[in-house]
Amino acid sequence: MSRPNIVVLGAGYGGIMTTVRLQKELKANDANITLVNKNDYHYQTTWLHEISAGTLHHDRARIPIGDLIDFNRVNFIQDTVLSIDPEGQRVQLEEGELTYDYLVIGLGFETATFGIEGLLEHAHSITNINSSRLIREEIESNFAKYNNEPEERDDLLTIVVGGAGFTGIEFLGEIANRVPELCEEYDIPREKVRIINVEAGPTALAGFDPELVEYAMNRLEEKGVEFRISTMIKKVTEDGIVVEKDDEQEMIPSRNVVWAAGVTGNSIVGESGFEVNRNKVPVREDLRAPEYDNVFVVGDCAVLMNPETERPYPPTAQIAIQMAELTARNLKQVVHGNNELEPFEFDNKGTVASLGNTDAIGVIFGDRKLFGRSASIMKKVIDNRYLLKLGGVGLFLKKGKLDMYH
Ligand code: FAD
Repeated sequence: MSRPNIVVLGAGYGGIMTTVRLQKELKANDANITLVNKNDYHYQTTWLHEISAGTLHHDRARIPIGDLIDFNRVNFIQDTVLSIDPEGQRVQLEEGELTYDYLVIGLGFETATFGIEGLLEHAHSITNINSSRLIREEIESNFAKYNNEPEERDDLLTIVVGGAGFTGIEFLGEIANRVPELCEEYDIPREKVRIINVEAGPTALAGFDPELVEYAMNRLEEKGVEFRISTMIKKVTEDGIVVEKDDEQEMIPSRNVVWAAGVTGNSIVGESGFEVNRNKVPVREDLRAPEYDNVFVVGDCAVLMNPETERPYPPTAQIAIQMAELTARNLKQVVHGNNELEPFEFDNKGTVASLGNTDAIGVIFGDRKLFGRSASIMKKVIDNRYLLKLGGVGLFLKKGKLDMYH
């Protein structure tokens, strides 16, 4: 019998971990493995807020695929996926077409705009290395412009962040730390700069422990962040954003609008004939698509109910990695002719949100709350643990956060 073709789409947390594990667990004769990714690198999505704020260089977050994958074992194709045909078992790429026996979809997330006018055109989103690098460059460029303008241009120094969820709060922590450096570099008095957060819901970090939320908001306010809670973004224009609270609208002039308030699955998944909810496939317990026994979906393109909370698992790197590990084990079973697949069981290692390099909040071991430096160290432990898992000590030493005890 010929070897089955396993094709993995996307080299994010879900895709790269699936591939690394398949490479380890399968023998060369078991299957042909192909990985398709837009770029020739894997990147740490969970560090993008640091790149966007300019507190971390983007090269720290990028790992060449060749450092993780043995190209003698895995056929790597750097290309963009355009569509998937699950009936015909084909994937259309920009530069060609692939057929598969088993498919793993790990194409990640896209920004959700909730229909807000002008958002896609005039706001930036923290979605990948390119978009994050652009945010850093634009903010720097606006600060550089300020003292060259004939009139006072407050819009250049006003940074508006839409959304006070995990990503929004983490970005606020970084940008609040970066602003004093930018002020010094471009000879701007700190009090001229405004950092405004706009959140539609009644609290920041919805779902987090209230004591931790209060700590996070207080710490960010001390660093100059202004929170506008229960406030809707109505429109984004070239000149700024229009917000509304209690039926009153206000225009905030700003050239630095960063949208961090919502994600969906990749639209390619939504347009490829799968049953979807916001571009996410409601997978079975073993992470296969409902109608297709040979299609596994991992990470932010999948949606799965948590039986404990009766709500879907949130889109996180932690879950994408665990889904990938399970999928590699299940694929091993399938290629060996065993169709009894393991169900997904979430092993909750805790959640930590950073508030800048040395501050954070988090919950570990189910209910243990962490604040400040200890939470920040825990965040770096989580990041380093991932690197060790993915590429061993070599990768950890090259890319790890080794400044945690300073
Ligand atoms: P991704 O990591 O998004 O990877 C998708 C991959 O697919 C990318 O490599 C991309 O280049 C590739 N791709 C996309 N489209 C195509 C295409 N058409 N063709 C080819 N390749 C394509 N989660 C946590 O658990 N903890 C955190 O602390 C945390 N912090 C976060 C901070 C920020 C700023 C953000 C944005 C997210 C954070 N998350 C965190 C969420 C987490 O990053 C995501 O849940 C996770 O990245 C999902 O992994 P994934 O493998 O599904 O997708």
